[in-house]
Formats: sequence, structure tokens, C-alpha cells
Amino acid sequence: MSARILDGAALAAAIRQELQPRVKAFAARAGRPPGLGIVLVGTHAPSEIYVRNKLRAAEEIGCRADLVRLPESATLAEALDAVRALNGSSDHDGILVQDPLPPGMGPGAGQEIFDTIDPAKDVDGFTPVNAGRLVQNRAELAPCTPSGVIELLERSRVPLAGAHAVVVGRSDIVGKPMALLLLHRHATVTICHSRTTDLPSITRQADVLVAAVGRTAFIRPEWVKPGAVVVDVGINRLTDRAEVERLFGPESTRVADVDRRGSILVGDVHPAVGAVAGALSPVPGGVGPLTIALLLRNTVTAAEVRATWSALR
Ligand code: NAP
Repeated sequence: MSARILDGAALAAAIRQELQPRVKAFAARAGRPPGLGIVLVGTHAPSEIYVRNKLRAAEEIGCRADLVRLPESATLAEALDAVRALNGSSDHDGILVQDPLPPGMGPGAGQEIFDTIDPAKDVDGFTPVNAGRLVQNRAELAPCTPSGVIELLERSRVPLAGAHAVVVGRSDIVGKPMALLLLHRHATVTICHSRTTDLPSITRQADVLVAAVGRTAFIRPEWVKPGAVVVDVGINRLTDRAEVERLFGPESTRVADVDRRGSILVGDVHPAVGAVAGALSPVPGGVGPLTIALLLRNTVTAAEVRATWSALR
């Protein structure tokens, strides 16, 4: 590994610390802390962990954090009611509906639920209003994961203006907003997806390469320009010891990890990319912790903006 490690965990800790005076100042002015309401539907095991981490992180910086839990059998109407109740709550500034929703809720349910969130409380930045504001480069609440990637790049002093940034993945929550945020920082942006032809010829042109695909070790070392900055957004769970050995080598601590825990998290970028790239974000400890830190920042921002608007009314 010769690449500089882009330490997302350390940066996330710094961002959380920076937020604490803002939380204190808000609480002193408003007489209450900034509030985050999370709606969790069903019993998806990874979601339980993500939600627990988000609630704990919010409480640690002095925010109020409430969980609205609905059963796996909840109807779309019940989920919409939960969102509307948080929309109307004066104690909650941010609303997050944990994805994925139970398939039984029906196709399009997620979209309808996200569309119901008050844009002023949309701390995930998923509503059409906030997506539109992001296109116009005037978003107050931009999606957390791509915003975290920008923080990682900017605070690591990676030049973006004029750089060729290649984003692999075009989802509404990562790829598309990632491309827009890079564009607004004057990168020349290429977006790739499953229909892109000759993907390696494009990724090899990248000064900054962001992988958001959801496929283990998808980005190969020979797809990367020597010295490029590579950000690995992917989170993939590996349980197969032989595959872990093949990827990381038999001596790697990751093999011991899978033996101990039964699974490990890996990214979309092959570990051998570390020998080619100039800088690389690890998985875990890269973009993941930043996503939570940016969720907290969006919650505090939403609280501040809402307070300013209500003072003007
Ligand atoms: P997604 O909605 O499944 O999107 C995946 C994207 O990858 C799609 O645009 C898809 O193209 C593209 N893709 C799939 N196969 C491809 C191929 N062979 N060649 C080129 N592109 C291909 O996933 P997502 O929600 O964006 O998440 C992506 C990854 O990031 C996942 O591993 C997820 O767990 C992780 N993630 C991490 C965080 C974090 O906090 N670190 C947050 C969110 C997501 P099409 O559009 O053509 O299908």
C-alpha cells in the first residue's frame, strides 16, 4: 500500500466536535436542543445497527434523537402518518426514514414517503425540492454520503477545480448528488453506470475516482490512473473466508476478523488499488462515519434555518 489513507473516521470526529458549539448556541437560543426523528419500519438487521449508531451519535453531540418504530406489517398510510407527525412536531428539525422499507409496503412506497417529508426537515436531502436546489447549487440540505465525500476531499486538500472526476454509480442518494457536488466545485465530471461501455478506459482518466456501485472489489488496480485519488463509498458484507483470503492475502488481519466475527465489511475498490492510487479512503473507516457526521450537520443546519425563518415570521 503506497496510497495516502483518507481517514474518514478522524475527520468525522472533528466534524462532530465542530458541531458541539453550534448545538449549544442553538439550545441556548431556542430553549431546546436540535431534534432528529428517525422512522424505522420493520426488522432489517443492518438498519437496526445504522439507526442505533445515528441515534447515539446525535445524542453524543447534545441533540435530541427519537426513534419512531413501525412493525414490518405497517401500511403505507401508517408510515405516512408517522412522517406527517414529525413534520408537525416543533421539537424535531430533521426527519430520516431508514431505507430499505419492507417490500410488502409496495412499489413506489419509498418515493411517496420521502416526498412527504417537509423539505425544511429533509436531512437526507432526498425530497424533490432539495434535489432541485442541489442542481441549482443552492442546497442547504444535500445528501449526507456525497457531502461527506466532498468534506473528505476538500479537507485532504485534493484539488477539484479542473480535475477530471469520474463517479461510478448514478443512484439518487449517492451517484447523482455526488456528481453535482463535484461539478459545483468545478470538476469535469463523468458519470458511469451499468450500461457504460468500456468502463476501465473511463476510470483510468480519473484524477478523482468515486466508486458507488455496491459490488465487492469491483474497481481493479489496472482501472486506476497512477496517483489518482480514489474514494470508496461501497459497503459490502463478506462472509466467505476464502474470498477474504483471496482479496487481502492469507496473512491479513481481515482474515482473522472474518474468523472472529463471521463477516467483514469491504468496499467497491480492490485492495490492490492501494498500490496504484495516490490516496484512498478505507472501508470501514472512510466514507461511512462521514455519512453520520454529515447527517448531524444537516440536523443542526435544519434547526438553525428553521429558527431563523420562524423568527422572521
Ligand atoms: P445502488 O442504488 O444499487 O446504485 C448502484 C449503482 O452502480 C447504479 O447506478 C448502477 O448502475 C451502478 N452499477 C451497478 N453495476 C455496475 C457495473 N457493472 N458497472 C458500472 N456501474 C454499475 O447503490 P447506492 O445506494 O448508490 O450505493 C452504492 C454503494 O454505496 C453500496 O455498496 C452501498 O451500500 C454504499 N453506500 C454507502 C454509504 C456510506 O455511508 N458509506 C451510503 C450509501 C450507500 P445502473 O444505474 O445502470 O443500475
